Amino acid sequence: MSGANLLKESGPREVFCGLTSIVWLHRRMPDAFFLVVGSRTCAHLIQSAAGVMIFAEPRFGTAILEEKDLAGLADAHEELDRVVKDLLARRPEIRTLFLVGSCPSEVIKLDLGRVAERLNEALIGQVRVLNYSGSGIETTFTQGEDGALKALVPLMPKSDDQQLLIVGTLANSVEDRFISIFKRLGIKQISSLPPRQSTDLPSIGSGTKVLLAQPYLTETAKALKHLGAEILSAPFPLGVEGSILWMKEATKSFGINDSLVNSTLEPLKLRAIKALQPYKEKLSGKKLFLLPESQLELPLARFLHRECGMELIEVGTPYLNREMMKMELELLPEGTRVMEGQHVDKQLDRVREYKPDLVVCGMGLANPLEAEGISTKWSIELVFSPIHGIDQAADLAELFARPLHRNELLNQKVLTTA
Ligand code: SF4
Repeated sequence: MSGANLLKESGPREVFCGLTSIVWLHRRMPDAFFLVVGSRTCAHLIQSAAGVMIFAEPRFGTAILEEKDLAGLADAHEELDRVVKDLLARRPEIRTLFLVGSCPSEVIKLDLGRVAERLNEALIGQVRVLNYSGSGIETTFTQGEDGALKALVPLMPKSDDQQLLIVGTLANSVEDRFISIFKRLGIKQISSLPPRQSTDLPSIGSGTKVLLAQPYLTETAKALKHLGAEILSAPFPLGVEGSILWMKEATKSFGINDSLVNSTLEPLKLRAIKALQPYKEKLSGKKLFLLPESQLELPLARFLHRECGMELIEVGTPYLNREMMKMELELLPEGTRVMEGQHVDKQLDRVREYKPDLVVCGMGLANPLEAEGISTKWSIELVFSPIHGIDQAADLAELFARPLHRNELLNQKVLTTA
């Protein structure tokens, strides 16, 4: 384990809930539908987070439950049955229906697992009904994906064939690129979870080697391991170094010759380092503070420090899985403050005390910090952008260089007009 300084904090939090992940999951699996069982607040969140889609044919919706629906729980069950029936009549193309729980007390009283079981019996052969929680009490925004993928695991067919399974939503273009590189390196059988169609689930068994593409999939990884898969331990594929180490972990587990791997990856590495150079010049020496939100913070901090020369003031993460993050922690510089959990007031006090050049944080904190003259980067933007892989390293760095550049321009303008 590295000499990172691992700390914990708890108190008031300022993060999005797990419902937010529906925004990228519904794009990934167009034949699935996400029905949030929640309040009007949940409906507003999901509609504004995925606003554009609402005018197309959205693949998410909200069954709004209010106190009156819970006059008796039986009424709530009937109401939910009615909403599902209407939805399926209007949208017969839906193949997988996720019932997504939320945190209003009315919803907590419902056993969505039993509702899903009952609906599955009624809708057998037509649609599969699954459930998971996106509640803000239990989840931060990326953990919604962990819940959805874990719900899919029991439906995966069993097979002990040798295969590489990439787990975690990636942009399709990025995933295609990884698959083509792995094939060139000699790994023939590669599949992904989530798949591009919800019914096209990959198999799982003792020959499956799992490469996690996202760092927030603790529960899904446990469920896959339970079914005999081997979870490969690697840094995450952000930046040139992380992506190469990630791919090498897979090739090592398939016994592929190192010289083939090095000769294939070397030209990609040289090209990516060259593309990274202008952003490295802008970022090098700048102070960075990451507030906890997405669980992507450790791999981002590693990339921004080791490949872009940024100085790490504090690396927050809402949850630290030490086993899964072992290699990321080892790559952080000695003494890095890694803060698990959140006490938002204390963290903001430290931001003001250390005066970082850039803060990575949630949308709710970004505006007030910008008003105080501190440049920010929304962490949610990172889950919507294709940032994984060697080829994307420069684009990833550019996302952090942009707010610094914008602030420089604004400051110049203030100086000129003063
Ligand atoms: S699940 Fe909870 S935190 Fe999320 S939008 Fe609904 S009420 Fe708000």
